[in-house]
Amino acid sequence: MQKFDVVIVGGGVVGCAIARELSRYKIKVILVEKENELGCGTSKANTGLIHSGVNVKRDSIKGRLNLEANPLFDKLTSQLNIPFSRNGSLVVAHNRDDRQVLLHSLQEARENGVKGVRWVDRDELLQQEPAINPDTYGAIFAPTGGIICPFEFTLALGQNARENGVVFSLENRARKLLIENGRVAGLETDKGTIKASFVVNAAGIFADQLNAEENNEGIKIKARRGQYLVYDREYPVKIKHTLFPRPTEISKGIIVTPTIHGNLMIGPNAEQVEGKNALETTEEGIEEVLKGAKKLVPGIDNRGIIRMFSGLRAVADSDFVIKPAEKTKGLVLAVGIQSPGLTATPKIGEVVGELLQEIGLKLSAKSDFQPERPSGIKTGEMDYEKRDNLVEKDRDYGQIICRCEGITRGEIRDAILSPLGAVTIDGIKRRTRAASGRCQSGFCGPRLIELLREFAGISPLKATLRGGESRILKFRSKELLLEAGEDIADL
Ligand SMILES: Cc1cc2nc3c(=O)[nH]c(=O)nc-3n(C[C@H](O)[C@H](O)[C@H](O)COP(=O)(O)OP(=O)(O)OC[C@H]3O[C@@H](n4cnc5c(N)ncnc54)[C@H](O)[C@@H]3O)c2cc1C
Repeated sequence: MQKFDVVIVGGGVVGCAIARELSRYKIKVILVEKENELGCGTSKANTGLIHSGVNVKRDSIKGRLNLEANPLFDKLTSQLNIPFSRNGSLVVAHNRDDRQVLLHSLQEARENGVKGVRWVDRDELLQQEPAINPDTYGAIFAPTGGIICPFEFTLALGQNARENGVVFSLENRARKLLIENGRVAGLETDKGTIKASFVVNAAGIFADQLNAEENNEGIKIKARRGQYLVYDREYPVKIKHTLFPRPTEISKGIIVTPTIHGNLMIGPNAEQVEGKNALETTEEGIEEVLKGAKKLVPGIDNRGIIRMFSGLRAVADSDFVIKPAEKTKGLVLAVGIQSPGLTATPKIGEVVGELLQEIGLKLSAKSDFQPERPSGIKTGEMDYEKRDNLVEKDRDYGQIICRCEGITRGEIRDAILSPLGAVTIDGIKRRTRAASGRCQSGFCGPRLIELLREFAGISPLKATLRGGESRILKFRSKELLLEAGEDIADL
């Protein structure tokens, strides 16, 4: 039986940030994730904003961690070699009342130390963002607001943690905590028992299902869905900043933002849903999102949409729950991490490390911790000369597979063969952007299935869009004909 110091349950951005933090120390850590890829829960389906800290309360855990984590992103993303842009955010006033409330928020943001935050009046706002609703009373401008690819961030944290010795066990559901004399002794999983003295529950929306009664301090997690629309990169409405309306009681409102990859994205709404798998998009939800976005940018319409998706906020309380469990010694909860969880993750990792230490885990720093993650090859970011030289050495980088995004066979091969590599079509898409353009895999889909066979040994009949039951090809057509009683002798 395997023996570890710490087991982390959940390979979302929170679990991966904790794994990376713990990989700095001389301890044995394993992360178990029920899906066959990291970052397949809420961490892949959100707005991808690194919030500036405007409109947060410093006396809440989430507010404090947001404020402390935002400045860390320049160094962290450069170490992890992932794209990040401080495109700046604007919280827009639509009327006098909004202006009054937002001026108060501005004062609060200044007191909270949000750098460079200031009021911009209508004229400056329209100059900065010509597409914005001219019927405006100004906005709070926060230059430190940023955008990131949430999946790439999660994967990079995971890959760097793995590089530094954390073991990743994918497609492995944690079933039950093992408890002896009131303290954690390990975890029962689909792939067997893991012995460990400490467990961190970072299972996102499912966190309350892990031995619900005894160990989760009565925490119940409800899902609050947010729906989104993503536009083609050629869509004529362009904005540079992330545009927010005045926030509501429960959310930051429907946002209009560029993504880090240059698409326009609008959303999310906020709807309480039953169950934990209600990931569908709905007509009403999409209409609500369009209406909210049009209020900020009237030129936005329903043409040019290439993708709709939704994500589920894990709502336990109004705040994050990050603490040692009281009834079960050795268990730390990092649950109910709704927005701004993505922003807060670097600090969540640190806080969980400190809590583990407080409850008895001995942490001694490794001298060989490697914070840098090597960057993959991105031919689209190279000039022609560099690309030519590369293709000379490796012809795979000269063969375009995804025509919409210009992604080569070499980049897809690397995504499959890299540590914690892609095993699904969505996995390739999130790592390389192949299949994320205008045709949404209409052209490259069959070739991606073929590349999964070639480099990961996954038979085309077993290839899935995103694991589980999402197989793409159901039968060989010959078998279908036979089943239908057709004569195939002449085929
Ligand atoms: C609509 C929306 C918009 C948001 N926008 C932003 C934003 O712009 N900026 C920001 O800072 N934050 C944002 N957030 C919040 C942010 O996305 C979350 O805080 C963050 O992704 C939570 O990460 P997590 O790791 O806790 O959860 P998850 O990503 O859901 O990870 C939990 C993981 O645990 C796994 N798991 C569950 N049960 C088990 C089990 N029994 N065994 C093994 N594995 C298990 C799951 O498969 C999953 O991979 C947004 C959230 C939503 C929903």
